[in-house]
Amino acid sequence: MSESVKMVEELLKLPQKLCKTCGMCCKIAIFKGELSYEEVKKLANSTTDEISQIDGARDFLSVFVPLDSIEDAKKINKSFVENILKTTKNSNISFFTCKFLDDNNRCKIHEDRPLFCRMYPIPHEKTIYFDDCGFKEKGIENWDKIKQILTDLENKKNS
Ligand code: SF4
Ligand code: SF4
Repeated sequence: MSESVKMVEELLKLPQKLCKTCGMCCKIAIFKGELSYEEVKKLANSTTDEISQIDGARDFLSVFVPLDSIEDAKKINKSFVENILKTTKNSNISFFTCKFLDDNNRCKIHEDRPLFCRMYPIPHEKTIYFDDCGFKEKGIENWDKIKQILTDLENKKNS
């Protein structure tokens, strides 16, 4: 394995101790692509979309339920909701909450939680961090380093 690949692999792993266990990423979420609940359900039941997309939608709906209204979503995290609404192209976007978070911000199905919960947050330009997320600074820093490694590799290939 090349040194660059090893470095990227290391940078993708964020130290778990950075999590403040605030539970915010479980209390409120959107589905990638900023889909509405109906759109996520359609994807989960699709027979023609990519299998990874269909599985992603199914996994998501196995734990997340839609919040009744934008107002309910704002009660959980106003700035997150307002920021998403400012930029989304989908006027029907849905906000979701996980049904497995307990009152102490602990996951009731920790051992069996879906893969996307285990992997969140991955350093990437599309990753959304909550304002006080303990991973935010390191995640952004690592993504900058990954981008640099990828640019260097691209330049090497073209030289
Ligand atoms: S399944 Fe657990 S880790 Fe995943 S969103 Fe729900 S409470 Fe959070
Ligand atoms: S928002 Fe960040 S700090 Fe809070 S529980 Fe989720 S990953 Fe941990």
